[in-house]
Order: sequence, then C-alpha cells, then structure tokens
Amino acid sequence: MTWIRVNKKIVPKGFRGITLFPFIFLSSEILKKNRVIINHEKIHIKQQKELLVVFFYIIYGIDYLIKLIKYKDKHKAYVNIIFEREAYGNQYDLEYLKKRKLFAYWRK
Ligand SMILES: [Zn+2]
Repeated sequence: MTWIRVNKKIVPKGFRGITLFPFIFLSSEILKKNRVIINHEKIHIKQQKELLVVFFYIIYGIDYLIKLIKYKDKHKAYVNIIFEREAYGNQYDLEYLKKRKLFAYWRK
C-alpha cells in the first residue's frame, strides 16, 4: 500500500518528490502540474461525451487536416484544433468544467 502526500517541508527544493517508505511525498508544483494535465484531459472527456465519442474523433481528424493546410506546421495545427484550443485555453482554470457551456469549442 502506498500513501501519496504533498508536503512542502519534507520535499527538498528543486525535487519533484521523495519517498520515505511507505509514503511518497510530492512537491506542490508537481501536483499542480498534474492537476492541469488532468483538467485538460477532462475537458476532452466532456467534448467526447457531447459528440458521442465517434464524432469527436472524426471532427478532430478533419480539423487537424484543415489546420495543417492553414498553418503548414504539425504543432501549430495540433494546438489550433478546436478541441485543443478549448482545452489549452482553459486547463489552468480548475473550475472551468463547472461553468463550461455546451459545445463551448464552437463559440470561439
Ligand atoms: Zn488535448
């Protein structure tokens, strides 16, 4: 069994975490980063639910190709996919999903 804890006093500065059996202590920065990543992916879950999953992937692929033609750059195309714009644009707002409107990616 493992217990994961966040403790600023135990984790030395510059470290992501430290393990003192049986505990794993994470730095607050790591936890914050992970919360942002989880929030980003949760936004995609919400988008997928709205589009019955399959339409999400179809639109995702089509929009990627459109953006690839427009930007001629794989990374720029990816971050400008409508679903990624919404997810990257709101991932730092951990309350975003509570106030998000239906089909929010079409509104931008
Ligand atoms: Zn994403």
